[in-house]
This record gives sequence, structure tokens and C-alpha cells, in this order.
Amino acid sequence: MHDYLDEWEAKVYALSVAATHVCSKCVVDRELWRRVEADTTLGRCDFCGITSDSATFEDLTAGITEALYEFYVTADESGAYHEEGDWSERVEDVQEILIDWLGDAVDSPVVVPLTRFAAAANAVEYGFVRKADIWASLYDHDEAAWRAFMVEARSGDVGKAATDLLTRLNPRTVALLERVTQVAAAKGLFQVTRPSLWRCRAGGQDKNYHSAPDLGTAPAGRASAGRLNAAGHSCFYGSTTERGAILESTKHAGEAPEFWIGQFEPSRPIYHLDVFEVPDPPSPFAIGAADSHDALAFLRRFADSISQPNDTNDEGHYLPTQVFTAFLLAGIEPPEAIRFASSIDSTSENWVVFVDHEHCTDRQSPENSELRLVLVQETARHVSTAEVGSAIKARPS
Ligand SMILES: [Zn+2]
Repeated sequence: MHDYLDEWEAKVYALSVAATHVCSKCVVDRELWRRVEADTTLGRCDFCGITSDSATFEDLTAGITEALYEFYVTADESGAYHEEGDWSERVEDVQEILIDWLGDAVDSPVVVPLTRFAAAANAVEYGFVRKADIWASLYDHDEAAWRAFMVEARSGDVGKAATDLLTRLNPRTVALLERVTQVAAAKGLFQVTRPSLWRCRAGGQDKNYHSAPDLGTAPAGRASAGRLNAAGHSCFYGSTTERGAILESTKHAGEAPEFWIGQFEPSRPIYHLDVFEVPDPPSPFAIGAADSHDALAFLRRFADSISQPNDTNDEGHYLPTQVFTAFLLAGIEPPEAIRFASSIDSTSENWVVFVDHEHCTDRQSPENSELRLVLVQETARHVSTAEVGSAIKARPS
């Protein structure tokens, strides 16, 4: 056993040099290969033994270093400081960054020797700091701006409050949110569709909630803070299935929940941001990947935090989600809704539609381009505690 480890260690050591050759098959990430393609020569791969187009560790490392500096700056350059053993920013070790990146980019025998060589070539005194930590910047700098927004949104015009918020946010945050929106557009996440949406309201048989004002969005001022909205700013939360709506509503409904439920149809197709499935971020080695990588990571966090169950004590958790939503609403062509996956049942599709109490109606109003949600009258019915129980039991595991 001991001999075997010594032998392995000696082999890795011997391969961790500039002249080691790797072929295009052993470099599985096409984006990494693209970075070195111009410098490849015909040679024998030191890993699989095949003679074909191959690159040296030295050339690969040049490409890796380029990508590294697209995502990171050195701790020294970042302005991060060291106090009582702690860094003011998250400082990462180059070895850890590269083992993570190369683990997905090259065949497994190549990972350790290449990481060792490329990390040694990029040794700096303290380590590296990630250039764009979007979430940290939202948490750290914009809480005061957000509080001002909530006060303004509660007292009246949410659209104006959102516009004002943008003037209060620091320009770096606004630039990042713009970039996120551009990447979302480039990935086709802005869509137009016409979903049928079920919505529940807690209440016993005697309540007789049969109309759109009963079952639609709560009147302004009565809405509690949700995942996307500031308290008082009302919007319509719905699910595309009856069961989905029941499951979502049981989260806040106490011990023996019973509901009234109804199905709403939009008066016209809805322009919306679709984060039901956010595409995978690109390889870190793709040219210009740093921007879209961080934007997609942001959208994933956004999608996750919308689909998390509400926790009214956790204000910070919702802050970036709410700031991004406010940013979208203040735009030139703001989305009218967001489509996202349920955290309770990932097969269920949830929607938040930015329509208020007055725009949930019982009758289709003709010749009006304003978006309304129209209750399908015959669908309104009472859901007993027993039926809620069987919906919970029928949940796919
Ligand atoms: Zn090979």
C-alpha cells in the first residue's frame, strides 16, 4: 500500500511540469481547449498515450491563468484587509479554485498534476478574491435604500417607489442587475404565455368565497410581505394545478386548514420572467464567461429564494429577491409576472402576477389591453380539511 502511494506521488510529481503533453480527448472542456488550440502540436499524450493534437501544461496554464483573472483579483489588489486573523473579503486559495474548475474540465488522471502545475504558476502571497460577489454587494450596501423603498411602496405608487429605489442603489449594484437582466434576455427567460392559475383563500364553508374580489389578490395594505413583494404591495400568487395551490396555501394555514379555491384566466397572454428552470452556467473557461456565469448564478439564487417557504423573520433572505424584482418593475418593459418552481412539489408551477385587487375580476372586460385575471365562475368551491389532508398525502416523494 505504502509503495503504491509513493509511486503515485512520484508519478504526479514527474507530470507536474511545463513539458507534459495532454491531448484534446483528455481535455474534456471544449472551452478550455479553445483557449490553447492555436498552440497545439502533434504529440504523444502523457496520460492516454495516444499521438494526436496535444497541448503542453505550459500552454494550458496560460489559458487557465487568463480565465482565473477574469473571475478573480489577488487579495492584495482587491483592497481586502486583514484584521485579527480575518479577511474583510472571502479569500480563496488558488489550489482550491483550480481543483474545482479542472475537476470538470479534464480527465481524472490529469486533474491533480495540472492543478499542481497551474497553481504553482499562479502562487500569490495571500490568495484570490472573487471580482463580483453580487449577493454580498446587495446585502451590504443597500439596506437603507430598501427600507426607504418599502415605506414609499406602502404609502402608494409602487412603480414610482421602484424607480426611486434605483436612484438610491449604488451604481455598481445597478450595473450588476442590468447585466443579470441582459443575460436573462439572451437566454430566452422573458416569455409570453397564458397560464390558468388556481388560488386559495383560507376559510370555512360558511364564508362562501365565490367571487373574484374574494379569491383574487388581497386589497392593497392588507397583503403581508411575501417572497417578492414588500408588505402592503399586493400581488397575485397562484399555481397551475389545484393541488399545487392547496399545498402552497397549507404552509401558512395553521392546524386544520380549509380553503376556498378558484381558477383564474388571464385576459390576455402574460409577459413574464421565467425562472422555472434556469440554464446551467457556462464553463469558467468560456471566453467572457465571468459575466454570464455570475448572472446565471444570481438567477439561480433568485429562483431558489422565491420558491423557498416564507419566513417572516428572515428579512435579509428576501432582500436581494425583492431588490431585483423592484429593479425589473422599474424597467422600460417590465415583466407582468414571474414563473417559478414550487419548493414543496417541484412538478408544480407557481406564478406571481403583478396585478392588484381591482384587476381580479368576475367578467372579462372587452376592449381593454390592461391585464386582468378573470375568475372562471364554475371552478370556485370549498376545500375541506379532509381534502387538504389527502392532497398532502398524494405528494410525490
Ligand atoms: Zn490523452
